[in-house]
Amino acid sequence: MARYTGPVCRICRREGQKLFLKGERCHGPKCAIERKAYPPGEHGNSRRGRRRPSDFALQLREKQKLRSMYGLLERPFRRYVTRALGSKGVTGFVLLSLLERRLDSVLRRAGFASSQNQARQVVRHRHVTVNGQICDVPSRLVKPGDEIEVRENSRDLQAVNASLSRGYEVPGWLNVDTQAKAIVVDRLPEPDDMKVDVDEQQVVEFYSR
Ligand code: SF4
Repeated sequence: MARYTGPVCRICRREGQKLFLKGERCHGPKCAIERKAYPPGEHGNSRRGRRRPSDFALQLREKQKLRSMYGLLERPFRRYVTRALGSKGVTGFVLLSLLERRLDSVLRRAGFASSQNQARQVVRHRHVTVNGQICDVPSRLVKPGDEIEVRENSRDLQAVNASLSRGYEVPGWLNVDTQAKAIVVDRLPEPDDMKVDVDEQQVVEFYSR
């Protein structure tokens, strides 16, 4: 599936917020937000043309942020929104839950990858099994009881080891065995499990116009 391959730090600078798209670099002094805390572009550092954003602009920015965090293009992202809008639950929460249940998101949350892109690559390169079967589909939605493992031949993957050694806060719906490089999905994520720095209600309003 297609994905954005351009410069990602630009996206953070545009949103004025760290979106943690680059893995290890995001936690160090080389982070572009630390060095250039203003929007990208020739006039990014000038005050000219800065107006109070409209409601639409605020909704658009939240939508773009959420989309970037999960590395999705507009069309697949919209599919998640459509599914959430058609569900019985609270739309914003269902949307976040769907995004968090993606296989690549699960690997990132479990600390097996330091960014969404890296997690996607680990899956695409067939390093992961779900319930004993190789799965190379990053968008696969996990469900309670699923067992995700790094394949035996891939246990020494440098990217996975480096990420695990950093140590991430694992959400309560995932049970992670770092020695065996395995994850068990205990339950579906609940609102408290999803610490995503986005106003998802604004995203829902953007698509409900
Ligand atoms: Fe964003 Fe990470 Fe780049 Fe910093 S280093 S601007 S957090 S992608």
